[in-house]
Amino acid sequence: MLLPVLVAATLTVAATTTDLRELVAAVGGDRVRVESLTDPRQDPHAREVHPRQLALLRSAALLVRVGLDHEPWLARAVRTAGPPPHDLDLSRAVTLLGTETARLRADARPHVHAFGNTHYWLDPENARALTARIADALSALAPADGAVFAANRARFVADLDARLARWRRRLQPWRGVRAVEVHDTWPYFARRFGLVLVAAVEETPGVAPSPAYLARLMDRMRHSGVKVVIAEPGAPAALLRRIAGATGARAVTLAPSVGSDPEATDYLRLFDVNVERLAGALVEAYGPGPGGRRP
Ligand SMILES: [Zn+2]
Repeated sequence: MLLPVLVAATLTVAATTTDLRELVAAVGGDRVRVESLTDPRQDPHAREVHPRQLALLRSAALLVRVGLDHEPWLARAVRTAGPPPHDLDLSRAVTLLGTETARLRADARPHVHAFGNTHYWLDPENARALTARIADALSALAPADGAVFAANRARFVADLDARLARWRRRLQPWRGVRAVEVHDTWPYFARRFGLVLVAAVEETPGVAPSPAYLARLMDRMRHSGVKVVIAEPGAPAALLRRIAGATGARAVTLAPSVGSDPEATDYLRLFDVNVERLAGALVEAYGPGPGGRRP
């Protein structure tokens, strides 16, 4: 991912994900050069460290991360490249969900949401607190640009508020509808828009379900009339077909990160795409109109 050369750039920032990259760019504008350390089209749970990540870490004045156990590769990369001078862990800016989940056994895959669910950027309301922390961090590093960062953030938040109102209206008819997700990516998004997530296909985040668990889940879905399964671009197609065949539920693929889908080109577009796609699937599953047909 090449960035255009920005003449006015003063600060180099490394963000661990494209979502955080977009939030930093929204606040930093042309005073900041920011790149993502990961490619959103690849497995977010990967552990490998790439030379590009080391080079970016070495050049960055500030590292912005999701935190918790979201970035299993990061500790090793920072050990190899040396820590950037400043480090912003954004998990401290928001109220986390899923913190009561028991820590999983040591042989489970590393990305397990063991300290709380890490997909908090998927509640667009959280962008308010996240951009506030980013503005503080950038202003501390470039005090002369503090007013620019504040003005950029205010513009972003105004745009966010306008779109939030639209997104809420769009999904309003299906408030309280139940859905199943593949990976436990969507609790923040679901809470914001009134969707009730009753189960994840991955019983343990990052681990394929056992046949017994999957059979129980499909049975529950049939009996409770859950008609929508929220998937991500990398979800196994055969598994989704099997669930659809057994339960009659339809799978809808949402974009968990900026750039994981070609249409999700920035942070606000990510929600434009997801809200529209989900609304389309809910109409097909439950019908339109006030309240839909709630299961
Ligand atoms: Zn996850």
